Amino acid sequence: MRYEGTVYRPPSEGRSLILQASIGCSYNRCSYCAMYLEKRFRPRSLDDLRVDMDMAARELGARNVRKVFLADGDALILRTSRLLEILEELRARFPNFQRASVYASPQSMLAKSPGEIAELVSAGLPLYYLGAETGHPEVLANITKGVTREEMLRGAKVVTDGGGKLSVILLLGIGGVTLSHEHAVQSGTLITEMQPRFVSTLTITPVPGTPLHAQVERGELVLPDELGMLREQRTMLANMKCKRAIYRGNHVSNSLPVGGNLPQDRDKLIALLDTVLADPAPRLRARPSPHSL
Ligand code: SF4
Repeated sequence: MRYEGTVYRPPSEGRSLILQASIGCSYNRCSYCAMYLEKRFRPRSLDDLRVDMDMAARELGARNVRKVFLADGDALILRTSRLLEILEELRARFPNFQRASVYASPQSMLAKSPGEIAELVSAGLPLYYLGAETGHPEVLANITKGVTREEMLRGAKVVTDGGGKLSVILLLGIGGVTLSHEHAVQSGTLITEMQPRFVSTLTITPVPGTPLHAQVERGELVLPDELGMLREQRTMLANMKCKRAIYRGNHVSNSLPVGGNLPQDRDKLIALLDTVLADPAPRLRARPSPHSL
């Protein structure tokens, strides 16, 4: 396969074909994100994508491609007509194609209607990864997410009203020690309001070259320590009232890998976090450097 620059995908898409439907991120201004700083956003042509799909069919075997992740950072911003063309090409080439998924920035969700999402879901794009990071209005502003909590909720509702499944990512520590507790509370209640099918918590890792890293270096943002991160995770879970969701807290950035089904495993997860908070030494694993994430 051929890719432009570094390509990122959610951990759960490790077995999916990555198709670079667009290059970069059309927003590219979140203060903690270095993923697409070196790329200028642009859609890729359908002809280029056809070539990539043909290469994947040859290299992997057309029958072996079942799931596809549409990269880069917010391919949902592409015109709906273009996304439908891409999905049609995928269905035509890969006989066992099951579904595609995509990173959905709040801005790209707000640019769609529930009717457009419904069309995309029927065409094979049912899963939308949203890096919400926090539900706290002030933290959202501090990290220059570009949307308010209300806009984030409105965008998520566009996806769920259209029948799409949301997978929402929250960032432990992103509010710093000052807003740690409120960030955790409001992130939990954000999830309650969104009712995504999947929720993940990752730990903030300041990446050199980002504004957030510079804030940390200057001492303007002090991040919680490992126990502070666990306390946030506990508070988030305590404030999440999910009707049916899978929770993943096992990302490599987290010092305690945990996960389960919500709501049934929530109390067990909280009890485990309480146990570790009381006696952390035997359970915590070392976190990797930002360059290996
Ligand atoms: S919307 Fe996503 S990919 Fe784009 S800058 Fe923000 S975090 Fe990075």
